[in-house]
Amino acid sequence: MTALVVSDLHLDGARPEIARQFTGFLAAQACAARALYILGDLFEVWIGDDDPDPHKREVVAALRALTATGVALYLMHGNRDFLLGERFCEETGGILLTDPTIVEIDGQRALLTHGDALCTDDVPYQRLRALVRDPAWQAQFLALSVAQRQALAVEARAGSKAHTAGQPPMLMDVNAAAVAAVFRDAGVDTLVHGHTHRPGVYPSMVDGRPRTRIVTGDWYTQGSVLRWDAAGLVLAGLPRA
Ligand code: MN
Repeated sequence: MTALVVSDLHLDGARPEIARQFTGFLAAQACAARALYILGDLFEVWIGDDDPDPHKREVVAALRALTATGVALYLMHGNRDFLLGERFCEETGGILLTDPTIVEIDGQRALLTHGDALCTDDVPYQRLRALVRDPAWQAQFLALSVAQRQALAVEARAGSKAHTAGQPPMLMDVNAAAVAAVFRDAGVDTLVHGHTHRPGVYPSMVDGRPRTRIVTGDWYTQGSVLRWDAAGLVLAGLPRA
């Protein structure tokens, strides 16, 4: 079977060209696959499944059109859209995967993760991540009005940008020991993640075994798709028309 893996589209009303490319990708490529995996940060921000934003509704409709053709849709939370919930799944026909999840396709096993949990050098971010993943915090946030949540999301975005701008680039990448621990603990030789916006195939040796870390890229300037079938896993850029 053929599965496609993408991440970090950061869909947002301010960047309609990304949504155009993504809906074209769904209709032309994903619909010919058996499954589409979206490893987080599909949306730039997700304040709850009740957000009436027409841009987001269009994406939901495009995903529904994909699953209606019989393609399996799997999603993982990113650090931007960790509030994607049950209603979103019902509306799209998608299935939320816990992070991380091990998937096997045509005899090849790989661990899928968004990737932010591997960036352990960024201690303040990991603290924030633990907070916003807490069910009690989430319930409190989701109890606010849409307008209140939108205002808080704008504030959080500004804070995140200021934090990222002040960090050395090394701290924003994955930590080698965290990656090695994942390979070791999961007993896999292949790890697929997004988040870092450093697309590529990164080989390493862990416990004397060759391992491969594949990073799917963001869609800011072009698409990035990992094709996974009996021939293996192949990462490719998707030029924007
Ligand atoms: Mn991310």
